[in-house]
Amino acid sequence: MNAAPPFDKIALIGFGLIGGSIARAARVQGLAKQIVATAHSAKTRARVSELGIVDAVVETNAEAVADADLVILCIPVGACGPVAQEIAGHLKPGAIVSDVGSVKGAVVRDMALHLPRAAHFVPAHPVAGTEHSGPDSGFAELFINRWCILTPPEGTDPDAVEKLRGFWAALGARVEIMTPDHHDLVLAITSHLPHLIAYTIVGTADELEGVTQSEVLKFSAGGFRDFTRIAASDPIMWRDVFLTNKDAVLEMLGTFNEDLSKLTRAIRRGDGEALFEHFARTRAIRRGIVEIGQDSAAPDFGRPHAQLGKKAE
Ligand code: NAP
Repeated sequence: MNAAPPFDKIALIGFGLIGGSIARAARVQGLAKQIVATAHSAKTRARVSELGIVDAVVETNAEAVADADLVILCIPVGACGPVAQEIAGHLKPGAIVSDVGSVKGAVVRDMALHLPRAAHFVPAHPVAGTEHSGPDSGFAELFINRWCILTPPEGTDPDAVEKLRGFWAALGARVEIMTPDHHDLVLAITSHLPHLIAYTIVGTADELEGVTQSEVLKFSAGGFRDFTRIAASDPIMWRDVFLTNKDAVLEMLGTFNEDLSKLTRAIRRGDGEALFEHFARTRAIRRGIVEIGQDSAAPDFGRPHAQLGKKAE
């Protein structure tokens, strides 16, 4: 006999890549008797109804959270504070309230301000994603073998933290707990700065005179293509990330600029030894990422290649 689902009702506020993936995975894993969703626009709500992944789609955030024992905000970071304020008076006592925001310090501050004591606030960030967004972009396997970082404020009920840890583990994620500030510093270098660099490079290439647009596209496989994938990420989400994780990003950007200056100097001086030493060190980091199973060792990220005499699949 199957065990009873750990939650009676899960409410998802926001149904894009992350909300949609949680819904699909929670359904496959039977984690709730009922999953209810809502989104900002009537268009997205209509699409979520059509998809038939959740048990009910409701019009308002307040309606969604009524009687829910797990509420997850899957919305842009900048919207979390106002939505927490909106739902605060409608939460069931004892409900776990969480989010999936890519920044934790600002979100925790903005949400905690409004949430009632009777709710258990356990912020979360699944470190998993793609450059796609919207209700059709989610998939049940998104979180498998990816990290989900929980940043519960001091004094949070340990049972609520364990329950959310179990939820994310059931979605396939590996769960780690840290403080919001530490999270923001780590993610500034592993995620936020790489996105900023990608946005910069793709923007620079776009503005280059002397290199025509068509050449940039035509020869994009030489490294540029991988930056364009990252730079295609949702503009609202990333605007909010840089507005809310300003201090940590600026700190990392300072270090990055110093390192870039060192490499610039090495190139200017023709210092091959410095360049080789640097590139050998970074190559080892890539190997380490593959060794711990966070990426594929397949060449070119596993992209299919055409073979002579055969078409690429
Ligand atoms: P998304 O695909 O753009 O979806 C965002 C959803 O939020 C949409 O359903 C949108 O509704 C809804 N929404 C926006 N404002 C709202 C509001 N005030 N009230 C209710 N719903 C609202 O975004 P996503 O990629 O899933 O990202 C959601 C969150 O996950 C962000 O905080 C992001 O930092 C975090 N995250 C993203 C990734 C990633 O790679 N994408 C990875 C980890 C964490 P409409 O469609 O109606 O506008």
